Amino acid sequence: MSEIGFIGLGIMGKPMLRNLRTAGHAIVAYDIVPALLDAVVGDGVGRGTNCKDVASRTDIVFTMLPDGPQVEEAILGPGGVLEGAHNGLVVVDMSSISPVVSQEVAAACAKQGVAFLDAPVSGGEPKAIDGTLAIMVGGEQATFDQVAPLLRLMGSSVILTGAVGAGNVTKLANQIIVACNIAAMSEALVLARQCGVDQEVVFNAIKGGLAGSTVLNAKAPMVIARNFKPGFRIRLHQKDLRNALLTAESKKVALPLTSLVQQMLIALMNQGSGDLDHSALITFIEDMAPKLPVKG
Ligand code: NAD
Repeated sequence: MSEIGFIGLGIMGKPMLRNLRTAGHAIVAYDIVPALLDAVVGDGVGRGTNCKDVASRTDIVFTMLPDGPQVEEAILGPGGVLEGAHNGLVVVDMSSISPVVSQEVAAACAKQGVAFLDAPVSGGEPKAIDGTLAIMVGGEQATFDQVAPLLRLMGSSVILTGAVGAGNVTKLANQIIVACNIAAMSEALVLARQCGVDQEVVFNAIKGGLAGSTVLNAKAPMVIARNFKPGFRIRLHQKDLRNALLTAESKKVALPLTSLVQQMLIALMNQGSGDLDHSALITFIEDMAPKLPVKG
C-alpha cells in the first residue's frame, strides 16, 4: 500500500479521503482549518503539520482545494508540497481550477522531478461519499496508469482526457453545460408559474422527453421544494464560469451564454446568495417577473 497525502478536507475532500482509507491506505492529511483536520485524524489517518510535511512523508499527494490561488499556495508556496518533495513524488490536483494554472503548476513540479496530474471531478458530495465521482484526468499516460487504481476508489468513471490541463478543460465544459441548463430550467419553471401551471406537473410531464436531463432531475425538485441547501454553492459555480471565460479569452473564443449566466451568479452573490445551492439561480429570474398575488 502506498503512503498517501491528502490536502483539503472540505465538503469533497473529506469523503474522498475516507474512501481511500476504507480501502486500507495509510494517509497523512492536512487542511488550514484545524477543526477539519481534527475530524479526520486517527485510525490510520496521520496529522500533517503543513503541505511540505505531507509531501515529505508520502509518495502520492492529492489536493482538493477551492481554486487556483489555493492550489498554487499549497503546492508552490512557502511550506508547500514542493518544499517537501522527493524524487518520484506524484501530485494529483483534484480541485476545479483554470487549466492554465494546472499547466503552470505542472511545469514547476517537473523542474523538481515531481509528476503532476490535474484530475477534477463531477458529481458533488453524494457521489464523493459513494465513491462514484466522474474523474477527468490530464497528464502523462504512465502517471495516469500509476494513480488510476487510487482514483477508482473515489470515482466510478476515471478517464484520461489528454495532456496536463485537459482534465480541467473537460471540467469547464461540464460546468458550462450544467450552468446553462439550470438557467434554462429556471426560465421555464418561472414561465410555468406565472402562467398558473403547477411546476411539479410541468417537471413530471417533460422529464421523459428531450428536455429531460440529469440536471433537471436533480435541480427541479429542489426548486419546487424551495430547498437551496448546498450541494454546489453559487460562489463555486461563479468561479468555474470565470475560469471558463478567462480560458476562452486566452483562445479568442466567445462564450456568450456562459458570460450571461456568470453575470447572474455575480449578482446573486452580491445579494447574499453565494452560499446557496446553484439551483437558487431561479431566484434571479423570479425577481424579474411580476409579483404574483399572495394566496389565501
Ligand atoms: P470546500 O471549500 O468545502 O473545501 C476546500 C478546503 O480546502 C477547505 O476545507 C479549506 O480550508 C481548504 N484549504 C484552502 N486553502 C488551503 C491550503 N492552502 N492548504 C490546505 N487546505 C486549504 O470546497 P469543496 O466543495 O470541497 O470543493 C473543492 C473543489 O472541488 C473546488 O474546486 C470545487 O469547485 C470542486 N467541486 C466541488 C463540488 C461540490 O459539490 N462541492 C463538486 C465538484 C467539484
